[in-house]
Amino acid sequence: MTLELGGDDPLVLLTPGPAGTSPAVKEALTRGDWCHREAEFRALLDGIRRDLAQSLGVGETHEALLVTGSGTAAMELAVIGAVREGRALLALRNGVYGDRLAHIAQAHGITVHSVHRPWTEAFGPELVRAALAEHPDIDAVSCVQHETTTGLVNPVDEIGAVVREHGAAFVLDAISATAIENVGHEQTGGSFIGGTANKGLHGIPGMSFVLLDAFGEARLRAAPRRSVYFDGAAHLDAQRRGEVLFTPAVQVCFALAEAIAEFQKAGGFEARTALYRQRAAQLRGGLAKLGLRPIIAEPHRANSVSMFPLPPRVSYAELHDALRREGFVIYAGQAGYAAGHFRVATMGELPSRQIERFVASLEAVLPGVGSAP
Ligand SMILES: *Cc1c(COP(=O)(O)O)cnc(C)c1O
Repeated sequence: MTLELGGDDPLVLLTPGPAGTSPAVKEALTRGDWCHREAEFRALLDGIRRDLAQSLGVGETHEALLVTGSGTAAMELAVIGAVREGRALLALRNGVYGDRLAHIAQAHGITVHSVHRPWTEAFGPELVRAALAEHPDIDAVSCVQHETTTGLVNPVDEIGAVVREHGAAFVLDAISATAIENVGHEQTGGSFIGGTANKGLHGIPGMSFVLLDAFGEARLRAAPRRSVYFDGAAHLDAQRRGEVLFTPAVQVCFALAEAIAEFQKAGGFEARTALYRQRAAQLRGGLAKLGLRPIIAEPHRANSVSMFPLPPRVSYAELHDALRREGFVIYAGQAGYAAGHFRVATMGELPSRQIERFVASLEAVLPGVGSAP
């Protein structure tokens, strides 16, 4: 069987974004050519901002700032808006995305103090407390809720409590955790919580957002203007007036509004996180029968991404290609995990029969790969 993208039988993406979308979300893209300076777009913008904050459990405390760009764009706006002149960022780093937040700060000339953990180990509140005590110039702490690198979840509720107690701003990369992981945004103490349209919300790539509380807003206004495109205070003022500073991804906003409506209709946060737990259990149960176990131990395993060691003598490329011929796209490991591991994500619109079919396909292709000496 040969499969081509866009064919009758599209590839099933077992990748951590972009995630599969529903027919209605795809159709929303064709709603029409709208000008972002007209009343109809204003209403759409207001609705998305309100519904995002409410449906993600922080409607009473946070306001959604929409950002045109991928998730990294939202995080760049957040990181550079969280640190005042002459102060520093404490970056908690146990994967590629935690590193990225440090790199963003460094690129803008912000002093960074880093705490590193092995990529298979979570941060705990004690490490954070110690680092805060060590560096009196820390103004903000950055952390990734779900490190997509390995499928590891940091206990951001415990970390956030320590950061808040210290009086620093908590900058949370929740991009692959929003609507997926069990700890909801309202439990994190995050003053800047970054999310994206195309992971747990099942929208189309191109729009991201930062959920800001009052402390986050005050920080945005106190931080120097380090960027024109990512000037968070200017975006916030404009969006409160129902305006946008620059051309937004208008059609991606149509799809995002539809995706949020579907999320709410399907039961919101509780229902979606339960769905993700169920998928993770189905995938891991199936792969355990083939002798494959995720490298991250409980209780830090993510609900959407699992990283497994490759079986002996099997290369990633070989396994990827064999599974692609069966209709599935898996994902490689990164950096030190690129050669010996593979990742499977159960993100987006993904019927459970596809997970079942994936497990069966993996079982079928395994004996044929890696037989070369
Ligand atoms: C996907 C992701 C991002 C954003 O990546 P983009 O390629 O910019 O969309 C950021 N952080 C985490 C943890 C992610 O999984």
